[in-house]
Amino acid sequence: MRVGILGAGQLGQMLALAGYPLGQRFVFLDTSGSPSADIGTTQIDLDNQHLAEFLAQVDVVSFEFEHLPVDRVRDIEKHKPVYPSSRALEVCQNRGLEKALFTRLQIPTPEYQLVDSLETLQQAVSQLITKHAKPVVVKTVTEGYDGKGQAVLRTADAAEVAAVWQRIGGRELIVEAFIEFVREVSIIAVRGQNGEVRFYPMAENHHVDGILRYSLAPLPDLDAAIQQQAESYIQALLKELDYVGVLTLELFQQADGRLLANEMAPRVHNSGHWTQNGAVTSQFENHLRAVAGLPLGSTAARFPTCMINIIGRCGDTRQLLQEDSVHLHLYGKEERAGRKLGHLNLVADDLPSLLDKVQRAVALLPDAPEPHFSFAVYSKADRRELLMECTNTHSLQSGSALG
Ligand code: AMP
Repeated sequence: MRVGILGAGQLGQMLALAGYPLGQRFVFLDTSGSPSADIGTTQIDLDNQHLAEFLAQVDVVSFEFEHLPVDRVRDIEKHKPVYPSSRALEVCQNRGLEKALFTRLQIPTPEYQLVDSLETLQQAVSQLITKHAKPVVVKTVTEGYDGKGQAVLRTADAAEVAAVWQRIGGRELIVEAFIEFVREVSIIAVRGQNGEVRFYPMAENHHVDGILRYSLAPLPDLDAAIQQQAESYIQALLKELDYVGVLTLELFQQADGRLLANEMAPRVHNSGHWTQNGAVTSQFENHLRAVAGLPLGSTAARFPTCMINIIGRCGDTRQLLQEDSVHLHLYGKEERAGRKLGHLNLVADDLPSLLDKVQRAVALLPDAPEPHFSFAVYSKADRRELLMECTNTHSLQSGSALG
């Protein structure tokens, strides 16, 4: 099968690396002029004149980023199957549509208001801050990613609100109540063409300045009921969108355990990179199995796994590889401040060993922030005991499946 991928970045490259053993071959369509995927064939299309050529080379189309013109994807759907569909893409690239869908499907979210002028922004900020006695987060409705196009307002001071409108406004914005979460988590699921669904164990995600730095899975202290709750949310989304492929739902977990949905991504996701070395079937392979109409693979975790993003500078990768069970995934990109250059997946037999490995890797990575996990707040001695207990009772939570 020849798979066409819209976009030619690292996610596309990792899809291809997972698809070759399945006998698939890949053609990328790049409209940026700077593709980084260095595998298969890349069709550069800076003037939107080469779509027909691209389509002639593929049997099925998928995408690796969601900031694509929906009309273009609808056009492609007239010629070749596209998974996930343009409808899923449209909802996921607009925070307003996404939140409305969450609400309709009874998936709880932070309270929010949509605004499109300085006046309505001022009103929404005042109302939400008064009601919750918490700051608000203001975000652009479209095009924001990795924390870009966002601002936090602690007061409804008119000058500060005007400055935010000046900086990111002039377009539709969403104002959300600020959530004091215990941790950020994500659930990744895959749905096949026959409606079969599988869920990966949830991951805890540590962001700094809006950029993902660490993902750890399975969560050692996660109540099975919370995993099931997250599965029911993502299952409702998959069904509603008649979705095919991998879908990611990012959530905030509060102190009482409850989950609030933040956003979703219609694609393989950075918080699922751990599955390459920590799960029976990676998110990349399962996405391609779904796209190709093949049976899905097991989503069960094999080891406690931590993914560390390599951002800006790589450091001494030879030294990193001296550690047992470190898997290095480099994207072939030039070093540049803030740029995702690759990631490491560390696996271990138990959680204390994993966290020790993480500390050793972090010491070798330039600019890596101190990792914080919600379950690792105890002194080192206590932590070992507690974590061993967590590993034993919740160990290697199996991914689950739904027909
Ligand atoms: P997003 O682009 O919506 O994923 O936001 C980027 C990051 O900002 C998230 O990963 C959170 O760390 C933080 N954030 C976003 N929305 C909120 C919120 N309503 N309350 C608290 N933190 C938030």
